[in-house]
Amino acid sequence: MKKAIGIDLGGTSILGGLIDEDGMIIKRAETESRTAKGRKEVLKRISEIINALMEDGVIGITIGSPGFIDTKEGRVLKVGGNIKDWAGTPIKEELQKEFNDLPIFVENDANIAALCEHWKGAARDYDSFLMLTLGSGVGGAIYIENHGLLYGHSYQGAELGHLILYPNGRQCTCGQKGCVEQYVSGKAIEKMYEELTSISKSGKEIFNNIHVDEIAKGLIREFSRNLGIYLTSLKNAFDPEGIVIGGGVINSRNIWWDDMIDSYKEHVNDSEGMDIVPAHYLNDAGMIGAGKLVFDRLV
Ligand SMILES: [Zn+2]
Repeated sequence: MKKAIGIDLGGTSILGGLIDEDGMIIKRAETESRTAKGRKEVLKRISEIINALMEDGVIGITIGSPGFIDTKEGRVLKVGGNIKDWAGTPIKEELQKEFNDLPIFVENDANIAALCEHWKGAARDYDSFLMLTLGSGVGGAIYIENHGLLYGHSYQGAELGHLILYPNGRQCTCGQKGCVEQYVSGKAIEKMYEELTSISKSGKEIFNNIHVDEIAKGLIREFSRNLGIYLTSLKNAFDPEGIVIGGGVINSRNIWWDDMIDSYKEHVNDSEGMDIVPAHYLNDAGMIGAGKLVFDRLV
């Protein structure tokens, strides 16, 4: 049976999976991404994970990466997400030096999550859908049947985390001000909490503390309301069959999901006709979707 290696590079961890043609994960490998150490270290860690998963039958490798990705060249464009020194990294070219006998593909991390959800997860019955990943940042993917993923004219489309929610608002890593990512990502919640309390806590701790911490409660309420407004804009722009929401923040959805839906219904002109659903695969989506991309291109 043919196999693929799927790598999901995140702000905290690098997850790797050996994937079969049914989308099963045969073998896993994981390491910290050490994004603060920059490009060289991150690339070294990716190749360690690939080596740990390599075996007979592997036909190709896909790296899912944050940032704006030129999928044709396999390189990061001028926005590299939350990884230091990542903008401009020629990922494919660098890895091809070591793994020169296998095809290597590079894809935006939200796009591979979308491929997974469409293949086997929450979006499998949708002809058109948007994928949002709420993690360290906010990733976006747009999928349309008979067309596939939407890349835009210069591989800078579907960057749904960089729609502006508050004009002249908080500074974003992309250079703009007021991007959605600065309000509804895990990192944004951590940053805002620290500004208000001078205490540094993980997003997970902040979400878990809403019953005992008024500041956390206020922030999460704002987060849910902002998400509802954001979904309203997305509905009006794309009118997809569904919006699938994944990423690490989704693990705490019992705390904020209902408020988000209330906010959406309150703001949107017509709340009928578009599903809003949580992702099915959570942490495994990137690896499985990365494997799927190998099979789509090569089989
Ligand atoms: Zn931005």
